[in-house]
Amino acid sequence: FNVDRLSRINDSLGHAAGDAVLREVAQRVNAIAGPTDTLARLSGDEFVLLLTSCHDNEDIILAARRLIDPTAQPHPGGGHDVVVTGSVGISIFPRDGPAPGDLLKAADAALGDMKKSGRNGFRFFKGEMNAQALRWLALETRLRRAIERDELALHYQPQISRIEGNVVGMEALLRWRSEEIGVVSPSDFIPLAEDTGLIHPIGEWVIRQACFQNKAWQNAGLPPVKVAVNVSANQFKAGSVSGMVQKALLESGLAPRYLEVELTESVMLGDSAAAEAQMAELRAMGVSLSLDDFGTGYSSLGYLSRFPLDKLKIDQTFVRNITTEQRSAAIAQATIALAQGLSLSVVAEGVETIGQRDFLGLIGCDVMQGYLYSRPVPAHEMAQLLAKGRVAV
Ligand code: C2E
Ligand code: MG
Ligand code: MG
Repeated sequence: FNVDRLSRINDSLGHAAGDAVLREVAQRVNAIAGPTDTLARLSGDEFVLLLTSCHDNEDIILAARRLIDPTAQPHPGGGHDVVVTGSVGISIFPRDGPAPGDLLKAADAALGDMKKSGRNGFRFFKGEMNAQALRWLALETRLRRAIERDELALHYQPQISRIEGNVVGMEALLRWRSEEIGVVSPSDFIPLAEDTGLIHPIGEWVIRQACFQNKAWQNAGLPPVKVAVNVSANQFKAGSVSGMVQKALLESGLAPRYLEVELTESVMLGDSAAAEAQMAELRAMGVSLSLDDFGTGYSSLGYLSRFPLDKLKIDQTFVRNITTEQRSAAIAQATIALAQGLSLSVVAEGVETIGQRDFLGLIGCDVMQGYLYSRPVPAHEMAQLLAKGRVAV
């Protein structure tokens, strides 16, 4: 790990400032080293961090980012806020060499490579791993900028009552239009957002946007319906969901009964006390809770009684095969019976055909969401659907 262009600070602000920056960098780097890691200073501005508990490339990339990112935070020194960056070269034992000297050489070569192609980043010794790592990083950098650049948007998919065809709700689905790489699907970037922590600012943006948009529709005189937002397990883990929701409701003026939070089974797994508390808080505010993708996770029935849910969404994998596959039909039917027994409402996701709709109706499901009625549409088209109030098929 090398502090980029330290000589420039020495030259412009003096050696005392350079030393102060180095001490600060050393402290920050030391703070991220684990109990079994070793940190050493090799020369003036070069550090070596020996990691012994990495399992895969992603662990290593994460560690590299954790070296680079805090280094780039401003360093207050000599009355100036000095900004420096750092570069990381990575070698792996035993792949890149059997002895410490080989590993150092390999890391140094990788570092040199990194410095040649711009700084403030990391590089593996061998090229092969770079491609994936860099792709990942490039996407991450772009995603980081997506909010400021106004590249995120919510589309809305109506939920329809089977018999009357009325719009009884809608789900907000995130879209990312990147200037450089085009439209990226949420199933591609949500996992990246989760891994990088970007899910928190993005998740907050989604909640706020959905609340403000729904309130704006109501202000415009459109019939009020609930908007459902997807909230991931990581957001619950961070403990921030109920606070974010409360703030968004307050600031937008949206009544809590017009907001629904969709969560997946993974929220309720493991050490879920924090999730349980936030779910109770949401419920106490008057926000409803819907269990997404039901049947695809662990489907431990225990949590259906333990957690305060209002609704189950039958996953589209069952709906897709409902008319052709006895097993899917049985699961859908059991889910509906379960929901009725627990006084929960049910929505079927991914309804694409009249056959599926009619079968679902036969087994007691009255609210549908899917391409048969409408794809997720931009806000202005959703406004038209709300104005009409119903969707004919
Ligand atoms: P989901 O919450 O289960 O959303 C339903 C997905 O099914 C959406 O995909 C929707 O476009 C798609 N869909 C709806 N009707 C049909 C249909 O009839 N046929 C087929 N084949 N597909 C249909 P989308 O928008 O690509 O979103 C994928 C997933 O990404 C979502 O699954 C959700 O888990 C996640 N996601 C989307 N927006 C957000 C968000 O704001 N926050 C978080 N944390 N996750 C989100
Ligand atoms: Mg959903
Ligand atoms: Mg779903």
